[in-house]
Amino acid sequence: MLQRQKTERRSAATERGNPVQNNPNTTLITPTAPLAANTHGGRAKCLQRLVRLDMPVPRTVALSFEAVHRIAEGELPDIAAILGEFPPETLLCVRPSSEDPDWGGPGAVLNIGMNDARHREVCASLGAAAAAALYLRFVQAYAIHVARLDPDLFDEVSEDPAEGLAETLQAYEAETDEPFPQDPKEQLAGVLRSMARAWEGTSARLLRQAKGAPTDAGLGLVVQEMIPGLGQGECGSGVLQLVNSATGQPQVTGRYLSQSQGRDALGAGAAALYLARDARGPSLEEAAPEAFAALKAHAALMRQKLRAEMQVEFVIESGHVHILDGVRVARSSRAAVRIAVQLARDGIITPQEAVMRVDPHALTELLHRQVAPDARRDVLARGIAASPGAASGRIVFTSAEAQAAASRREACILVRRETSPEDIRGMHAAAGVLTERGGITSHAAVIGRGLGLPCIVGASTLKFNKGKKTLTAPDGRVFRDGDIITIDGSSGQVLVGQPDMLEATLDDAFQELMGWADDARDIGIRANADSPADAQTAANFDAQGIGLCRTEHMFFDPGRMTVMREMIFAQSPSGRAAALERLLPMQREDFTQLFRIMQGKPVCIRLFDPPLHEFLPATRTGQRELAEALDLPVSDVVRRIEAMEEYNPMLGLRGVRLGVTVPEIYDMQARAIFEATLAASKDGAPVVPEIMIPLVSARREVELVKARIDAVAAAVQAEQKRRFDFRLGVMVETPRACLRAAEFAPMTSFMSFGTNDLTQMTYGLSRDDAGRFMSDYVNQGVFPEDPFHVLDTDGVGELLKLGAERGRASNPGITLSICGEHGGNPESIAFCRSVGFDYVSCSPFRVPVARLAAAQLAIGHKICDS
Ligand code: PEP
Ligand code: MG
Repeated sequence: MLQRQKTERRSAATERGNPVQNNPNTTLITPTAPLAANTHGGRAKCLQRLVRLDMPVPRTVALSFEAVHRIAEGELPDIAAILGEFPPETLLCVRPSSEDPDWGGPGAVLNIGMNDARHREVCASLGAAAAAALYLRFVQAYAIHVARLDPDLFDEVSEDPAEGLAETLQAYEAETDEPFPQDPKEQLAGVLRSMARAWEGTSARLLRQAKGAPTDAGLGLVVQEMIPGLGQGECGSGVLQLVNSATGQPQVTGRYLSQSQGRDALGAGAAALYLARDARGPSLEEAAPEAFAALKAHAALMRQKLRAEMQVEFVIESGHVHILDGVRVARSSRAAVRIAVQLARDGIITPQEAVMRVDPHALTELLHRQVAPDARRDVLARGIAASPGAASGRIVFTSAEAQAAASRREACILVRRETSPEDIRGMHAAAGVLTERGGITSHAAVIGRGLGLPCIVGASTLKFNKGKKTLTAPDGRVFRDGDIITIDGSSGQVLVGQPDMLEATLDDAFQELMGWADDARDIGIRANADSPADAQTAANFDAQGIGLCRTEHMFFDPGRMTVMREMIFAQSPSGRAAALERLLPMQREDFTQLFRIMQGKPVCIRLFDPPLHEFLPATRTGQRELAEALDLPVSDVVRRIEAMEEYNPMLGLRGVRLGVTVPEIYDMQARAIFEATLAASKDGAPVVPEIMIPLVSARREVELVKARIDAVAAAVQAEQKRRFDFRLGVMVETPRACLRAAEFAPMTSFMSFGTNDLTQMTYGLSRDDAGRFMSDYVNQGVFPEDPFHVLDTDGVGELLKLGAERGRASNPGITLSICGEHGGNPESIAFCRSVGFDYVSCSPFRVPVARLAAAQLAIGHKICDS
C-alpha cells in the first residue's frame, strides 16, 4: 500500500512537471533528481539513495545550499510550491543537511502545519492527547527558534498535553502580542528563515570550523512529510543500528518509544524499549516482530548499498515502518577500525577503502589507555599533550620517590619542573609524567613518547613548589605528594582523582587493517628505539627497522652512570681508556640485543650526541656521591663540573664535536657495534649495522670520524678473522649540513634529517623553552602550528629539500630519511613522501599511525592519478 502511494506520488510529480522540480534550488527527492552532497548536503543525498533502494521514505523536498543562503539573506523560495508537493493535510518537518554530517546544523523542527484547525482534526483521528502533543511540540519549537522567546518560559507548563498546549499558546501570545501563526506557509517560511540564519551565525560558524568545516561551508535543508508516530495501533519512533558504537562488534542497538517522535526514544530512559530481545527489559522484537524484522532488513540493505554502517531513524505507524533518515553510526576509534575492516571482509568495500576510512590520529587512542569518553573530568590544569594515553597515580616530586612507589607497586605520576637525563629511571618507574616547562620535543616529551608513557609538558599554569611538595592549580586548589591525579597525555588535561579508563586494544581487526596498509604503502617506516624494550615494541608494531638509536640513553643506567662519570673525569688518555674498556662490553651487549630483536632488519645507531656535562650530578648529594665513587674531594668534583659548564650547551661541545675532540668515545662505540654485529650474525640473520654521526656541519668532521671508524672496522675484522659490512651515514640537523649536503653525500651511505635540532636551529628557537610561549604564538597566528610538532614545510622543509637534492646529486644511491619527532606525524610524512625520502623513523608507539598515514597517502595518490 505504502509502496503504491509512493510510486504514484513520484510519477505524479514527474508528470506535473512540478514547479519544485523545475526550480534548481528546491528539489523533490526522486531517484533521478539532480542532487549532490556538495550542493544539497549529505542528508539530502543519503535520502535520495534510500529512495533509490525503494525504502519507505516519506516524501521529501531538498533545498540547496544556494537556496538556504538566499533565505538567510531574506529571499524566500516559492513556499506555496514546496507545500504543493505534499497533500494539503500533511504535517512537515525540516532537518539540516550540511555537506558533512559531522559539521552539524540547527536542530530539526517537527509538526509544521499544526494549527487550531488541524488540531481539531487530529483530535478526531488520533485522539486528544496525541493531537495536543503534536501541536505543543511545534509551538514550543517555533516559539524558541523562530520567535526567539526565552526557553525558560515553557519550563513550568503543565505535564498534561492539553493543558500544556493551552498555557504555551497563551505564553506565546503574551510575549509576542500576536496569536500563534495559523498559516502553514507562514510557519514554514519562519522555520526555514530561522534555520538558515542560525547556520550563518558566528557561534555556529566557529563551532563547525573547529570540526574542520571550511569557512564557506553550506547548509542544505530537507522538508519532509511527517509520519506522526502517535495514534492508534503500534505507533512510535526510534533509532536502530547493527553495531555497537563503542566496540564495533555486531549488535542490534538503539531504542524505540511508543507514541513518540524524532529521537525522543534516546532520552526516554526506562520507558523506551530495547530493539532486539533483551534480558534487561521489553523489546520491539517482542512488541512488533514484523516491524523489527523489516527494520533490520532495511538496515542491512543500507549497509550493503550505502557501503557504510548506518543508524536508521524510523517511525512505526500502525505497525508499518517508515525510514526517515540514515546517518553514519557514531563510533569510537576502536569501533571505526572494526567497522571498516568488517565491511572489507564482507566484500562491501575494498581493503584500500577500509584503510582510507580510519583516521590515523585516532589510532593513537587504540594504542594507549584512555580516559573513558563518558567519565567525569575535573580539570585542574592544561598543558601540552606530549605523549598520548592516560594514567592515574599518586603525585611524586622526585625520581627516587617514583622508584620507591614502583617498588611498592603503587602507580605514581612524576611531577617535575622539567626532566633531565637523571630522571630516566624515575620515568621508567612512573605511570605518567607532568612537567611545568618544556615543549613537544623537550626531554620529558621525547622520552615519554619513546616509552609509550603518558606525558604532559609545559603545564605552566600550575605552581610547582618542590620544597613544600605542592602543586597549586590556577583555581587555588592545592595538591600534595600522595594525592591522586590523572594525566591525559592525549588532550593535555591534568585531572583530579582517578576517572574510569578504557584499556588499549590491538585486536585482529587492527592487525588486519595494518596488513592492508602495508600492502599499499610506498615509504618505509622505522622506529626510534634506544633500548631492547623499545626495539621489542618497534618489532611488535612491525617497524621495518630502527631509524635512530640514541646511544646516550644507554648510559643512564645507574651501574653505568658511575663508569661514564669516571670516563668524563679521567685526567689522562689511559684513565679514559680504562673507563671506556669497562663500558665496551655493556654497549656490545646492548647492540647485540637490538640486532637480535630486529632479526636482520636495519638498525641505525647514532654515535654519542649530548654534551658530557649532562651526565654530571646537578645536586649537592649527587656531587658528594660522585666524589666518594671517584675518591676525590667534593670541591674538586664541583670545580670540574663548573669548568665543563657551557653558556649554550646545545650549541656547544656535543655530537660530532665530541667525536673529533674526544675520539676514544666513538672508537669504543664503533668497536661495540662491530663486535655485536659479529656476535648477532653468528646465530641469527646477517647484520649490516648503520652508524650515524650526529650534528655534522663541516666535511672535515666526517672525514676524521670516518677514518677512525674504518680503522676500528679493519681491526675487529683482523682480530676475529671475519668480515662484515656496515653503512656509515650522517645526521643532517644543522642548516649548514643541509646547504653543504653535496660534500657529505659521497662519503656516506645515508643521510637522516634530524628535524628536532634542525627546527631549533632554523628558527633560532630553543626546543626546550619554546613550550612557554608557543601557545601565545599559535593563538596569535605567528606560527600556524608548533613547528616542533608539525614540520614547517616552508622554512625547515626548504632546507630538507635542498639537502635531499644536493645529497642525491652527488650520490644518487644515497638513502634519505627523517628521524626527528616529526617522523610520526601524518602531515610531515606527506612532505617526506613528496620529497622522495626512503623512510621516516618515529617513536615506536607512533609506528602504526605512520604506517596507516603513509598508506593513505599512497592510495590517495593512486586515486588522483587514475
Ligand atoms: C633531532 O635532532 O631531530 C634528533 C632526532 O636528535 P635528538 O632529538 O636526539 O637531538
Ligand atoms: Mg638532534
